[in-house]
Amino acid sequence: MITDPFQSSIEQLESAAKFLGLSREIIDQLSQPQRIVKVNFPVLMDDGNIKIFVGFRSQHNNARGPYKGGLRFSLQVTESEVKALSAWMTWKCAVAGIPFGGGKGGVVVDTKQLSITELERLSRAYIKAIYDVIGPNKDVPAPDMYTTPEIMAWMVDEYSKLVGEYTPAVITGKPIDKGGSEGRTEATGQGGVYVLEQLSQKANLVPQNTSVAIQGSGNVGYYFAVLAQQLGYKIVAISDSTLALYNPDGVDVNAAMEHKKQSGSFVGFTGASQITNDQLLELNVDVLVPAAVENVINEVNAGNIKAKYIIEMANGPVTPEADKILSQRNIISIPDILSNSGGVTVSYFEWQQNKDNQKWTKEEVLNKLKPIMVNAFEEAWAAMGKYGTDMRTATYVLAVKKVVDAMIK
Ligand code: GLU
Repeated sequence: MITDPFQSSIEQLESAAKFLGLSREIIDQLSQPQRIVKVNFPVLMDDGNIKIFVGFRSQHNNARGPYKGGLRFSLQVTESEVKALSAWMTWKCAVAGIPFGGGKGGVVVDTKQLSITELERLSRAYIKAIYDVIGPNKDVPAPDMYTTPEIMAWMVDEYSKLVGEYTPAVITGKPIDKGGSEGRTEATGQGGVYVLEQLSQKANLVPQNTSVAIQGSGNVGYYFAVLAQQLGYKIVAISDSTLALYNPDGVDVNAAMEHKKQSGSFVGFTGASQITNDQLLELNVDVLVPAAVENVINEVNAGNIKAKYIIEMANGPVTPEADKILSQRNIISIPDILSNSGGVTVSYFEWQQNKDNQKWTKEEVLNKLKPIMVNAFEEAWAAMGKYGTDMRTATYVLAVKKVVDAMIK
């Protein structure tokens, strides 16, 4: 059972296309990225040797605006993965109603093996290799897995040098003092929590009685956990890539993260017992939040999922096979292109601020983010009823329609 994310993205498009009655020509156009760039670029390592790295930038569709989407630094990066992720960005921007298309990039690298100076040289060298295909009105990258605001700042600096002018709007997710937006770091998690609140209204979930298990504690999982806990939701489990913490009475997320910061891992944290990531996914909870990597809920474990609701904060955490099993079992999964669209939405706000030379307060940012997330959720929920289908297909129908309407045919 090897699920190719690109294959999944095509299957998801095909099921939405049936509802919209799209022609084969349109489906074929939307199945593939409009352009994919592969670069092999040299980086000077600290030992004086030059190493060649492989990077990609996939530009899926720009009918609704410049390509938009993150850059991932990971050994798991493949052409197929960035192609899928770029398509998901096209749908995500359409769901949120922000004027961008979809793009995604990455470099095949384990950042843990690099010194900080090597990481900076690699980030700059990647931008040098792709700078002619990106730009504020062309393609606007951002952070994704294992890339940070600091990396974005190096990249903007490199791009600005190459084009000969200060160009902060070429990349979003920058540090606040380097053209970034207030609220961007927590935006994806915050957007997911707005979705959780909407879902709670529909499903009559009272925060204090609602148990939530979160897979992942990176930027997305961490902020989701902390912000949901602040609202009173019971975070009974949270994990990193090696293990999960579980306490049926609730894990103190901040204390657990502090422990990890001090000791390097969750091991030895006394406020919870240790379980595996696989066990976390199968916990008997109200809401399951996969906030790490692709394909974690698949045909092997979908039958064992006990949560009634899933909020997909990772990109592509549920495979199409698992989707079928979940909907047969009446488990509602709020799709990634809706649940995690808060990040790219605040990226849009950052881009707007850069273009207009403005600085918005965090309150302004959150006041603009919330209605976008609420509307996206309400529209998709209503479409689920209207089309008599699952939440993912309903969301895709709305998104694909917006993109097709914008295409010059
Ligand atoms: N990497 C994030 C995502 O997958 C954010 C992309 C962006 O801000 O452009 O949605």
